[in-house]
Amino acid sequence: MNVLVLNSGSSSLKFQVIATDLDRIREYKDERLCWGEVEGMGGEAIIKFQPRSGPSKTLTAPLRDVGAALDYIVRFIASDRSGVPEIKHTGDFNAVGHRVVHGGEMFQESARIDDKVLKGIEDCIDLAPLHNPNNVKGILAARELFGSDLPQVAVFDTAFHSSIPEQAYLYALPYHLYRRHRIRRYGFHGTSHRYVAFRYRALRGLTREQTNIITLHLGNGCSAAAIRAGRSLDTSMGMTPLEGLVMGTRSGDLDPAIVNFIARKEGLSPSETDTLLNTQSGLLGISGLTNDMRELQSELKEHDDRRVRLAIEIFCYRARKYIGAYLACMDGADAIVFTGGIGENSPDVRARICASMEWAGLHLDAQKNNDAIGREALISAGDSKLLAYAIPTDEELLIARDTVRVILGEPHPS
Ligand code: AMP
Repeated sequence: MNVLVLNSGSSSLKFQVIATDLDRIREYKDERLCWGEVEGMGGEAIIKFQPRSGPSKTLTAPLRDVGAALDYIVRFIASDRSGVPEIKHTGDFNAVGHRVVHGGEMFQESARIDDKVLKGIEDCIDLAPLHNPNNVKGILAARELFGSDLPQVAVFDTAFHSSIPEQAYLYALPYHLYRRHRIRRYGFHGTSHRYVAFRYRALRGLTREQTNIITLHLGNGCSAAAIRAGRSLDTSMGMTPLEGLVMGTRSGDLDPAIVNFIARKEGLSPSETDTLLNTQSGLLGISGLTNDMRELQSELKEHDDRRVRLAIEIFCYRARKYIGAYLACMDGADAIVFTGGIGENSPDVRARICASMEWAGLHLDAQKNNDAIGREALISAGDSKLLAYAIPTDEELLIARDTVRVILGEPHPS
């Protein structure tokens, strides 16, 4: 099956086409046919396109919304110009898999999209007002383009964390607020945590039940997950993706009283305060320079800037604090797994996070750590009791696989 995987944002649309089916999943023979992104929807959009083999292409076109963008990329992929011989016309797409950010309490696993599921995703808009509306638009655009007979599947960022127990997902607020408004921890990046947990157990030849790890997804958004017996036991993001680790532009954890304090002192409205915490904080806020870890690291090397150093130190300190907390919550773990743009590519950040963790039995192997850039690798030393891995995430692959499994009615694997 040729599965079109879509991640629909406010002004961008990321896409991949992955050829997969149950045999290919079993034999690990899924094939990525092409991938890319439409940026700047609403005006003159830029379309970046990469076929499996051959050079990448950058195109421009006036694309007013996600419907126009989807129409454009689907027709382009089906054309001779794309270099994707498997897709000759729009009928060669067999299914669409959507990344959906919030599934609330309703969706505990991936779901085939029908009117009821669509209504459920719309009902979660209250919980993710910035994300779910764009996901809904992506689904409607695909329905419009392909017709309602083409199967579509929603894969939720929150679903993997639906196993978190009450004591970890409830906040210590008046209980009626949970009853009335479903205020609780949901967690995000679930597809990424689930994928690297799956790769970890494949690398070690373990069963799901034998998988006891802490996964750190460190990208522009960052989150940690405590995974016991293959299931999410706790995670650092909360009701929204703002809680937890320090991120590119998000503050992560802070004293909740600070929110009102900032609003009063700076004369900000609730939504302006929200914007400050989500878009002007984190690495960007502390450094005053950039949200980009790679840039911060080269700046530190060249100029040894104090605030840049602080931003990196606070980022790593918070991650280490979560590792300690999760080791306690899950009665110890077998491994720490790093993923996401920073986790996969920055030996320096990994080394800073794992420094002085000998008390927990963790020793990184400096050489293995330095060599592990953008690839799967064991990075802990031979005598380390707590192992450490770098494992590149692949959310799109998991979305494509879930799409196939849901359509064919295979039981959910994890
Ligand atoms: P993601 O959101 O997963 O794409 O991750 C984006 C983050 O990964 C940005 O902060 C990038 O600067 C960071 N990143 C990517 N490559 C590297 C690298 N080689 N060293 C440090 N950070 C990196």
